[in-house]
Amino acid sequence: MARYVGPVCRLCRRQDEKLMLKGERCLTPKCPLERRHAPPGEQHRHPRRSSEYGIRLKEKQKARRIYGVLERQFRRHFAEAGRRPGPTGENLLKILEMRLDSAVYRLGFADSRSQARQLVRHGHLTVNGRKVNIPSYLVKPGDAIAWREKSKQLVHYDKVAQEVGSRSIPSWMSLDPETLIGRVLTEPSRNEIESIIDEHLIVEYYSR
Ligand code: SF4
Repeated sequence: MARYVGPVCRLCRRQDEKLMLKGERCLTPKCPLERRHAPPGEQHRHPRRSSEYGIRLKEKQKARRIYGVLERQFRRHFAEAGRRPGPTGENLLKILEMRLDSAVYRLGFADSRSQARQLVRHGHLTVNGRKVNIPSYLVKPGDAIAWREKSKQLVHYDKVAQEVGSRSIPSWMSLDPETLIGRVLTEPSRNEIESIIDEHLIVEYYSR
């Protein structure tokens, strides 16, 4: 399964916005965007004005970069969002949030979505007792996300167990701090999705 493997800070610099792709490091002065606000490879003396198309394209790219989804898969998510009842943009954000890698990240099992994707790919997690190693798998209300028994030997599991109280879980999920079993309570509503994405611009981009 293809994914972007280049330097992720470059994506933030391209976007000229902090996309928080590296977990805790993004909150420290080590974040390159704290020091430099120029797109990679360019000496920007004059800020460029974006066209209407450019603004929409940039928003779509931002969503792709935040959730770590390549164009083909993103289009598939968008098409699925359009088939569901309700506003397409909101449906799209719901789908992105309910991807297994994103849900694992929201539960605090990983510092970033890319780390969450790796945990899923390596088969460390189960959904309703069955191993699922597909990051794009969509969780549903009622699903239980848990660690596989043998994955509880990981140093990373101990770290998650120690930090569990210090992380906040979105209101549409719950987490048992003893067993580290997360549950999807309901689909998130728009105001429960913490997001810097303007989904209307993405809908306009694909409707052009
Ligand atoms: Fe983006 Fe985080 Fe890198 Fe800063 S440290 S540029 S927010 S990925």
